[in-house]
Amino acid sequence: MSTQEPLVELKQITQSYASGPRLFTAIQDVDLVLREGEFVCLLGPSGCGKSTLLRIITGLQRPTGGQVLYRGQPLQGVNPHATIVFQTFALFPWLTVQENVEVALKARGAPPKLRAARSVDLLDRVGLDGFETAYPRELSGGMRQKVGFARAMAVEPELLCLDEPFSALDPLSAEALRGELIELWTSGSIPTKAVLMVTHSIEEAVFMADRVIVMDKGPGRVVADMAIDMPYPRQRKLNKFMQTVDRVYATLAGRTDPEHVEMGVPPGEPGRTRTLPHIDISDLTGLLEHLDEMQDNRADIFRLADSLKVGSDTLLSLTDAAELLGFALVAEGDITLTPLGETFAEASIRGRKEIFATRVRRLPIFRWLTAMLRATEKQQLEWEVVKTALSLEFPPDEAERQLDIIIDWGRYAEILAYDDDGELLYLEPGPAERRL
Ligand code: ADP
Repeated sequence: MSTQEPLVELKQITQSYASGPRLFTAIQDVDLVLREGEFVCLLGPSGCGKSTLLRIITGLQRPTGGQVLYRGQPLQGVNPHATIVFQTFALFPWLTVQENVEVALKARGAPPKLRAARSVDLLDRVGLDGFETAYPRELSGGMRQKVGFARAMAVEPELLCLDEPFSALDPLSAEALRGELIELWTSGSIPTKAVLMVTHSIEEAVFMADRVIVMDKGPGRVVADMAIDMPYPRQRKLNKFMQTVDRVYATLAGRTDPEHVEMGVPPGEPGRTRTLPHIDISDLTGLLEHLDEMQDNRADIFRLADSLKVGSDTLLSLTDAAELLGFALVAEGDITLTPLGETFAEASIRGRKEIFATRVRRLPIFRWLTAMLRATEKQQLEWEVVKTALSLEFPPDEAERQLDIIIDWGRYAEILAYDDDGELLYLEPGPAERRL
């Protein structure tokens, strides 16, 4: 973590909005310090107040309560040292790429010659050399977003705020642009002193930030502040990267139990191998979506059987699966979504698969199976062989059912494939690696 002076200090920030006759508290008592040299990500389910915090920090919005300090001074009005890049950067379609960047400098009163020189230089730095005279419609989404970055940087902001800047891009452009932003930031070729980025993606946060702030809603608040201590550029395949992603997931899942208590041990080791609950993934997503719509994301378990139209056995298997995967917590007859469960319920299909894959990879029975698959020459195993191995842990019928569940979950998570004809199990790269 940076030992530099604080750039932004939030003290007991509260934001309420009128909701009919009542007041709705969107953010409550948030304390946060951003220092020079930090790249900080804000992570959390939709509606936890991430965008609201960005607007408050940049002075676009005055909080209902609390204080914002910039370099130790109370912030008044819009912060001239900060810029926000939004998900889809609004470029003027009738201006060329260069003119779109110059607009920002013109607004600050820079003379024409300087404007032109600065814009060309910035476009060069974001890799748009040669596109100065193109119009936005001629550019891909990724290139348009780069113009957005160039425009944001034209005013040399000390604080660069990014609100899900990659989420509207196709996966390849997003990955390329992430790398380029990290390169700009770490090379010191931009005058930016700190970056604050809102994201939905845990992996994106671990890939880019040196600090991750996890928020939860109801009301919006900070629940964890984690340092990510890894050199740039980061490699997603490294164990340390995956462990860090896992640590952030565990924080979002609100887990405190040691792993062997929570999830059992791998087959073949002393202790209990946990039986995976017999569930359909579509029923599990149905349960999580239902909870996401409930007040406080909480429901009485026995009432749920009625609302979801499932038997109580199925319901108990579903709540067991939701707990095992870190999507919900069960206490005193109620089930409550964790921030991770909320994030899952609100994610795209791809986002859900990513979250599911990361959770499933942690389960000892999956770790055991993937380690066995990796150890084989062709990274494949016969169904019968795996079933026999599982029969040492479970009664024969259950061994077969466990294997069915493993295949079902593994296929959904895109970490396992199963060839019905040859009755063979294979390893798959997984949804996150697939993007690269
Ligand atoms: P996030 O960016 O984490 O999705 P937001 O900051 O957009 O969250 O919103 C936090 C909460 O405040 C949400 O419940 C949202 O509906 C509410 N909210 C945001 N802006 C307004 C507004 N201008 N008026 C009323 N409610 C708002």
